[in-house]
Amino acid sequence: MCLRCVRQLAGSSRQAAKRIAQSPVKNFSTAAKRQHKVFPEPQQQPKQSYAQQARQWSSKQPAQKAAAQAAQYQHDDYETSRYPANLSPYGEYRAPLLLRPDNLFHSFSESPIPEIRRRAQFMRQNAYCPHKSHKPTRQAQSPRDSEARKKPEISKAPPAYVDFECPDCGVPVYCCEDHWADDYEAHIEICDTLKQINEDDHDLRSGRWFHEFEYPGPQIDEILVNMTNWDTFLYTRQFEAINEDRSMRQATRLLTYPATIGSVLHELSPYSVKRDGRLTFEGLKSLSALRYTLHPPRTGQGMDIAGLRLQSPPVRIFCLGARAESSLPRDVWMQLSYLFGRANIHLIFIGPESMANRDAEYPLPERTPENPFGAIVEDRISDKMKITTYVDYFHTLHEANLFYPYDPYFDCFMLFHPGLGHPASAHEWEETLPQLLSTKVPIICTGYTDWDMQRDWKWVMEKCAGEVDLLMEPGENRFRSLRWDLNDMDPMDISCGNWGVWAFRGKRYVLLPAEKEYY
Ligand SMILES: [Zn+2]
Ligand SMILES: [Zn+2]
Repeated sequence: MCLRCVRQLAGSSRQAAKRIAQSPVKNFSTAAKRQHKVFPEPQQQPKQSYAQQARQWSSKQPAQKAAAQAAQYQHDDYETSRYPANLSPYGEYRAPLLLRPDNLFHSFSESPIPEIRRRAQFMRQNAYCPHKSHKPTRQAQSPRDSEARKKPEISKAPPAYVDFECPDCGVPVYCCEDHWADDYEAHIEICDTLKQINEDDHDLRSGRWFHEFEYPGPQIDEILVNMTNWDTFLYTRQFEAINEDRSMRQATRLLTYPATIGSVLHELSPYSVKRDGRLTFEGLKSLSALRYTLHPPRTGQGMDIAGLRLQSPPVRIFCLGARAESSLPRDVWMQLSYLFGRANIHLIFIGPESMANRDAEYPLPERTPENPFGAIVEDRISDKMKITTYVDYFHTLHEANLFYPYDPYFDCFMLFHPGLGHPASAHEWEETLPQLLSTKVPIICTGYTDWDMQRDWKWVMEKCAGEVDLLMEPGENRFRSLRWDLNDMDPMDISCGNWGVWAFRGKRYVLLPAEKEYY
């Protein structure tokens, strides 16, 4: 049927004619899409969003796709009517939905979640009103610290705890409504972020199905990981599509830990020695050594006797001062292993708080002659990854020569938000830092905010001037957590996990045995 006939048939109904006239075009486009499904070519489809393409990839994994689709039915009445007794389509039990996605904003003190009400109570008992008329309660830690505004000339009133909840963000931020209204200009800068934190916290406890916490398996050899940013990383790692900003924030909050380490150490790292690439030449030397072990060549290894090959020892990544990162789900840490498919990785968490949030694993193993420091060993996570946890200070273990010898080809230190220059923790690091530098092994550091990171960097450069080589200049981390967090002791203090990243190591390290460089 030609276009003219269609118009004549449709008569006055131009809309219908348009529909029929366009229908072959639509069919063609779906056929074209179907072809792309078989041979996806990401570079040739710039207009198609990452999310759509990722969904196409995931069509190979029916279970995951179904789980994600179930999560899209965001209303609990739909869920319960279709799947009674909180059963998923596969008969798995799912907790009842407490909050709908359109009902996530609640003030902290009137939250339907008891945990958040307790948090409001804690803030009311511990956080001080940031209004400048109150006397200071502690030393200001940065120029942006609200305590820095409190001057002896104007701050006469005694300190008061926060009580008044801002109606826009629902967080107790000032002692009374007057102080909130008077200081509104300062508060409005962070009010939107506080509201986002509030909603994200409620979302996390809403009982919905978190499809963003499903993780893909090993990387296919034919697909290279693109570490330009979160989107390219998740897409090339074949994650289930994450279409909402809130889900993205929840997912990156956990993934930031393995992705930050991976993005620095990987041979396809986005940090380079090119201009503004942030990596220094010393950094390239150190990382090249590690990459040599992390990306071994294929050896023809197989399961039979003929395929037996010598394997290099695992790369040891020491996470010092470990806190939240040691209790991350092991699936999240496996994402680091999948980035280095042929290498063995041994993660070692060290620190007095490294068993925080892991109550199920108490009591800790006894200290025996075979296990003198009570290490908790998890060696059945995967054949490529092993995790060991020490509830002790690094300097104690280092002085006992537990990890000796260190090798720049096999070892790396990772400090997640160490607070090297923080007044409360600097003294603890003062003893450890010379030991770290003496190993000549790269030390990667992250910070909660730009200020936090710069303070650590300056502290290291001042304390160990002449003995430190900068490997990577301080700057924003491409794989920072996209979710912001609130400091319950100071509602003006917001930060995000691994905001910035930089790296250093002890000086006088020689990678190449060139005769001249020895002397
Ligand atoms: Zn006040
Ligand atoms: Zn507010």
